[in-house]
Amino acid sequence: MTEILKTEKLQVHFPIRKGITSRTVGYVYAVDGVSFHLEKGETLGIVGESGCGKTTAGMALVGLTPVTGGRVWFEGRDMAGMSRREMRVLRRKMQLIFQDPYSSLNPRMTVNRILSDPMDVHRIYGGKERRDRLAFLLETVGLSPEQGERYPHEFSGGQRQRIGIARALALDPTVIIGDEPVSALDVSIQAQIINLLMDLKKDFDLSLIIISHDLAVVEYLCDRILVMYLGKIIEEAPYASLYTNPKHPYTQALLSAAPVSDPLHRKNRILLEGDVPSPINPPSGCRFHTRCPRKMEICTEKEPVFYNMGDGHSVACHLFTP
Ligand code: SF4
Repeated sequence: MTEILKTEKLQVHFPIRKGITSRTVGYVYAVDGVSFHLEKGETLGIVGESGCGKTTAGMALVGLTPVTGGRVWFEGRDMAGMSRREMRVLRRKMQLIFQDPYSSLNPRMTVNRILSDPMDVHRIYGGKERRDRLAFLLETVGLSPEQGERYPHEFSGGQRQRIGIARALALDPTVIIGDEPVSALDVSIQAQIINLLMDLKKDFDLSLIIISHDLAVVEYLCDRILVMYLGKIIEEAPYASLYTNPKHPYTQALLSAAPVSDPLHRKNRILLEGDVPSPINPPSGCRFHTRCPRKMEICTEKEPVFYNMGDGHSVACHLFTP
């Protein structure tokens, strides 16, 4: 397989400013040294609780929030060395599907206008080619070309997310990042959108990153899964290995709380104490130690290394460090 995207120690630190001089008094360590890769044709899941940094990481990859450290390679090229023009082309190739289909579409624009917007920005597809492209995009996501003259409020939530997906496809991307692409939808509609994404991946030879707090969604969609906690990746594994043999106590707790289709295989629920600590002042050592049911003395002092246990399963936890 070919590596299409790779990050090394990716950081997104937001400065906290104070006073009339806007003096920086600290940072929100939203994404703090995250390294991963995406293979061509692969679907990679990024899971974790709200505030773990998964959405910020996705936004940083598509340029919607500034990267403050680390490196990103796209199709083998270091993005730091790219010119503005090259960066524009790259932005076309990596597109985001937003979480909320209700607020991510401009209510004053027709669907055709919404889909045309990115093409105008990148100055592609004009005249008849544009009209054909719009019709093609709508049909691809299961809508009719006639619906292109309607406004977002005339559509259901599921149809709006289809429009969001058509917008992401408008520039012919090779990588699509879905930020909680189905979490705002009814459960009955979620399966339709998941199936649509799987079909599009095949038909358009896409590589996908699915960001979600819902382990059931990533289980259906993803080949490999990263688990994030407080700005860091704490476990990475092929999906079958993660679901059958989770190593990190945090992953075990997440999975124990996830709905399962077969109640006989329900594991005992692991309840975590306390809330996720602030990303402004993350705990020393292992960031999970304030909530970990298996905490040891070393955990408060030393940060665990990300250890590869074989077969693509890696974990950052002192329980597994040799
Ligand atoms: Fe728990 Fe320690 Fe492992 Fe962190 S390193 S998950 S605190 S056992």
